[in-house]
Amino acid sequence: MSTVSLEDITNLAKRRGFVFQASDIYGGIAGFWDYGPLGVELVNNLKQEWWRAMVREHDNVFGVDGAIIQSPRLWEASGHVAGFTDPLVDCKNCGARLRADHLADTDSTDLSELKELLKDKACPVCGKHTLTEPRKYNMMMKTWVGPVEDESSVAYLRPETAGSIFTNYENVRETMRAKLPFGIAQIGKAFRNEISPRDFIFRVRELEQMEMQYFIKPEMQETAYAQWREFAWNFLVERLGISKENLQWHEHDEKERAHYAAAAHDIYFRFPQGFKELWGTHNRTDFDLSAHQRGSGKDLQYFDDETRQKFTPYVIESSVGVGRMLMAVLANAFAEDELHGEKRLVLKLKPSLAPYKAAVSPLLKNKPELVSRAQEVYAQLKRELGAVMWDDNGNIGKRYRRQDEIGTPLCVTIDFQTLEDGTVTIRDRDTAEQRRVATRELTTDLLT
Ligand code: ATP
Repeated sequence: MSTVSLEDITNLAKRRGFVFQASDIYGGIAGFWDYGPLGVELVNNLKQEWWRAMVREHDNVFGVDGAIIQSPRLWEASGHVAGFTDPLVDCKNCGARLRADHLADTDSTDLSELKELLKDKACPVCGKHTLTEPRKYNMMMKTWVGPVEDESSVAYLRPETAGSIFTNYENVRETMRAKLPFGIAQIGKAFRNEISPRDFIFRVRELEQMEMQYFIKPEMQETAYAQWREFAWNFLVERLGISKENLQWHEHDEKERAHYAAAAHDIYFRFPQGFKELWGTHNRTDFDLSAHQRGSGKDLQYFDDETRQKFTPYVIESSVGVGRMLMAVLANAFAEDELHGEKRLVLKLKPSLAPYKAAVSPLLKNKPELVSRAQEVYAQLKRELGAVMWDDNGNIGKRYRRQDEIGTPLCVTIDFQTLEDGTVTIRDRDTAEQRRVATRELTTDLLT
């Protein structure tokens, strides 16, 4: 069970090079973060794992990588220009701008309901009763395409990756000769002008999503919905090693659900700030393809060879944020225990996710024969395991502490015995047990 605080995660992330504030030397910019050397390895491992499970392991799921800027007509048709809105209130006294639904502690975004709930509420920042009535605010980020900054050149940074999945539905169906059911998956950046970005990388303005839209015949809704809910849960538990106690289902009631969605289930993770949304599975019905048919004037109906009928496919959507997943994985792996009477901090990451699979050290760094033997082992391990770290700083105890903190599953030490019989000491991150193995046994088999 995760009892980690937001501060624990933020400090570790900064101290060890997982996540830095964007524009750090300029004091940062709210809602934007950079991944450091370890963070980018972890992010890449998460994306690879998802891509493997989602695309490679499903013969009927295809990948795309769409542009961040699409025709603004896409976002008009999808309803984002008119409706991609969050309710907010402003404080007339201190100028704070706050999410009305968060302040009212509700999942509802209904303005009259929020107004009622916030009637006697004071501003949480200054304590004054000077909040405005809730209103809606469009979260899409705007830009201009080309040299002239006028209404006709306005474009938007995509607020979700799904848009270009829908606009490529027909291209993919045709080029891959795909039959229903089939899915289109995409990993990529999205932008939301969130009113109050916060909780570290949980709510940001530039995010990355991993989304898949599964196109189906309407009669498949229930089975496909169950399939992709199960996929998300199993992925988190089995592929990322997240403990089940840190996860729970949250079903949207009518007030929370988008008007077109027939059903919506989110998986909530026990983030340091409480159980919050990590991964959504939604039944979007034929809303999207119908909207894009109307918007584009193109026929996006599917012709069923068997029944000789045409219809607009339904869509089951699976959508998760990369940053939230990284934060969940860090929080889930974060542990403090005691070894030989000494406290230590250890990241119990699954070896497949760990930024470095092993660290290689010579016992002493001033003994050239140990160093050169260690370098040979280091080169061998890089070929064998990929991301491996050379660590000859400080004494062995310190090296172990450092590697524990970044979740390196194995520490390999080259000592005088290595020179005699070719064996090395390997030390396990979780149990802290040490044993000697022959260098030829240093393979991926050690990382299970
Ligand atoms: P929330 O209710 O938390 O604002 P949402 O319901 O708007 O999220 P979706 O539009 O369903 O989220 O987006 C799919 C996924 O993208 C979410 O489950 C989450 O993991 C991620 N995500 C959405 N908004 C953000 C954000 N501002 N920062 C980080 N991740 C986000």
